[in-house]
Amino acid sequence: MLLPHQPLQDTAVVPPQRVPSREEAGPWHAEAVCRRDEAGLFFAPSKEPTAARLAREEAAKRVCARCPVMIECREHALMQPEPYGVWGGLTAAERRVVLARRRRRETELQRSARMQAAG
Ligand code: SF4
Repeated sequence: MLLPHQPLQDTAVVPPQRVPSREEAGPWHAEAVCRRDEAGLFFAPSKEPTAARLAREEAAKRVCARCPVMIECREHALMQPEPYGVWGGLTAAERRVVLARRRRRETELQRSARMQAAG
């Protein structure tokens, strides 16, 4: 079964364990708009210049914006976490920011709960 971005694995900087099994990823892959990423938008080729990377990532995000499974894809990429590529309309750097915010929020909630429990 082809998964989102899979055709690019040969050229992208992606660890071999990147693609989850269907059971791990859920059925959303079947509806992924990027299943045939012939333009190679979602992963960086090696030694890609910054301007080219930014343009490629914006093009990938435009594809994601019309994808019916963007939310599922994004959550998958955050939970795995997927270290490379554009997933769910977010670059790897943007996903790191989201994850850091989530961790901060969780820490604040835990601290608040402990303070309430202590009275
Ligand atoms: S949101 Fe983007 S990366 Fe995710 S499946 Fe859709 S097109 Fe692919």
